[in-house]
Amino acid sequence: MELWYTEYQTKNLGLAVRIKKTLYSGHSEFQEIAVVDSYEFGRMLILDGVFQTSIFDEFIYHEMIAHVPLFVHPNPRNVLVIGGGDGGTIREVVKHHTVEVAEMVEIDGQVVEASKKYLPEISSALNEHHPKLRLKIGDGIKHMQEVENKYDVIIVDCSDPIGPGEGLFTRSFYENVHKALKPDGLFVQQTESPFYHQELIRRLTRDISSLFPITRLYLASIPLYPGGLHCFTIGSKQYDPAKADIARIPENINTRYYNREIQKNCFALPSFIQKLVK
Ligand code: SAM
Repeated sequence: MELWYTEYQTKNLGLAVRIKKTLYSGHSEFQEIAVVDSYEFGRMLILDGVFQTSIFDEFIYHEMIAHVPLFVHPNPRNVLVIGGGDGGTIREVVKHHTVEVAEMVEIDGQVVEASKKYLPEISSALNEHHPKLRLKIGDGIKHMQEVENKYDVIIVDCSDPIGPGEGLFTRSFYENVHKALKPDGLFVQQTESPFYHQELIRRLTRDISSLFPITRLYLASIPLYPGGLHCFTIGSKQYDPAKADIARIPENINTRYYNREIQKNCFALPSFIQKLVK
């Protein structure tokens, strides 16, 4: 018998993936967690029925959410990741020589444990207890209320704006992010699909640009996510992504998607997305 897993991406659209088997399934205080092995995407993490990451294409998301902001900032030393329980983002962050401390605040310890066991390629920095890593299991929204003037770069690697991730897409959260950043700091957040989350993107662009003088959206092509094209939004106090020093990016950087050309060009937007963020 064939086994299929379907993520319902909108009321009328689903992505069905044929699976070999379920490796893990559990229920934490916050969400339902599953890891399945699939034919096309390899092993995948699923939270509350939503595909989070897969062995097949995780490199695109994790490289793009980490390296783009870390090369816009000229000297990121103190970096925070909110969410990112699978460990892929922190794996990319610790590659940066300038980074001295990479903090991670993830609400769900069960996601971290399942990822360490079933997705070791993604969670390698968590498994190895990388010396730069400071992992805290806790609510990123609460953490942001408690810190001030601390980080060079904050990376919000969150799930969808439902469940525990809902408050990570609000103006009051962005106010606290602004407060937690140093005077020249910047942050990035994964901001969903330009096809299916237009209202959300409009609202958060308005909120972020009311607080940060520089707000820029960039894109990456990610097969697992709705529509295959994914948005990331940067809010920056000082550094303009358009003026990033490309020469600082090593030509032989250890990545599969990200490179100098991508850093320069990922901010180029199709006209319908330009309108969305105007
Ligand atoms: N790449 C993914 C995507 O776009 O679907 C995101 C992956 S990562 C697994 C998302 C993480 O955010 C989850 O592990 C979830 O537990 C965590 N998260 C959700 N709300 C949170 C909060 N308020 N504080 C900290 N972490 C949170």
